[in-house]
Amino acid sequence: MVNRKKPSKRAIIKACGGKCAECGTTENLTLHHIIPLSDGGIDDAENFMILCDEHQKRLHGIHKKKREDR
Ligand SMILES: [Zn+2]
Ligand SMILES: [Zn+2]
Repeated sequence: MVNRKKPSKRAIIKACGGKCAECGTTENLTLHHIIPLSDGGIDDAENFMILCDEHQKRLHGIHKKKREDR
């Protein structure tokens, strides 16, 4: 079995500058897959970007209310 070392969340956040890519906050940071695993993305530092909880939700479109901006 190949033992591929998965980078730790903390290490990735540090490598990416330690802040949300959208608003620059350093709180409630989460890792976001640039290419979703379901689309063939990989669990590797290259495929992660840092987002705060708020922007992670926005990017995924998790809203209870549907808003139409058009
Ligand atoms: Zn943010
Ligand atoms: Zn995400």
